[in-house]
Amino acid sequence: MTPSEKIKQHALSLGFDACGICRAESSGEENNLQEWIRMNYQGDMSYLERNIEKRDDPRLLVEGAKSIISVALNYYPHEKRDPNLPGFAYYAYGKDYHFVVKDKLKLLLAYIQTIFPDAEGRFFCDSAPVLERYWAAKSGLGFIGKNTLLIIPGKGSFFFLGELIINQELDYDSPINLSCGSCSRCLEACPTGAIEQPHLVNATKCISYQTIEKKGEQDEDVDTGNWVYGCDVCQLVCPWNRFSKPHTTPEFNPSSEFLSLDLETLQMMNQEQFSSLFSKSAVKRSKLVGLQRNAKQLSKQK
Ligand code: SF4
Ligand code: SF4
Repeated sequence: MTPSEKIKQHALSLGFDACGICRAESSGEENNLQEWIRMNYQGDMSYLERNIEKRDDPRLLVEGAKSIISVALNYYPHEKRDPNLPGFAYYAYGKDYHFVVKDKLKLLLAYIQTIFPDAEGRFFCDSAPVLERYWAAKSGLGFIGKNTLLIIPGKGSFFFLGELIINQELDYDSPINLSCGSCSRCLEACPTGAIEQPHLVNATKCISYQTIEKKGEQDEDVDTGNWVYGCDVCQLVCPWNRFSKPHTTPEFNPSSEFLSLDLETLQMMNQEQFSSLFSKSAVKRSKLVGLQRNAKQLSKQK
């Protein structure tokens, strides 16, 4: 078995559902990123306006970078919230994915160092200017759908992505030759028309942005429907997600308290209760004030 094959096999043994490798080089996406910013589709997410060169070329982010090892971790839930309760995107059901994915990547780096003692690198999970979906597609994990998410053939899109960028040359995978074809279900189903055209999401219209990233009040012209944290509509309608299977990561299992959390409890929640329920969850990103703003917005519609 080659070192690259051993690394991929070890990634799977750590619980990742897919792993692929590509060369660290310029993505050639800089102009597309600049254009997206020029359209102001990033809204309040000003951090996306910075480090565009690093986002384009990971060699500027990690010194000596030669290879990008991309991994995917399933988060499709076993048990779901009642659809009549306020909506939380599936990815927010369990423990904060940043920690779970990074802990596994740390172990993967330690394993690589047993093969290459000089190996050094950094690991990322939605935590730095890294074009995660682009590199995952380049590493052959899947293809980028018209909803801009990575779709893994035979598995769907309910996956967290992570990367290990290291200073060692490895064997590289090739992108897969698949696409959405003539499907346009996500464009038609998006409740706010945020997918302006295939592969182009206007974040300011996206419910995920409005319920998580947006500062102050939600924009009045964006109807966030029943969602109070994120939105899964463009994934739920995607035919590739008929292949989704429940994850096998215990950390992502939701508590019974979370599963039954209703609008009234959400509105009455104090800081102590919020911290006890969400201190280890990605939901803490919105803070209590953001979550209650979203709950208030939802209660106006009821
Ligand atoms: S997450 Fe929801 S609002 Fe955002 S693009 Fe997908 S369907 Fe539209
Ligand atoms: S719903 Fe259709 S168009 Fe949208 S990402 Fe899935 S396959 Fe592609």
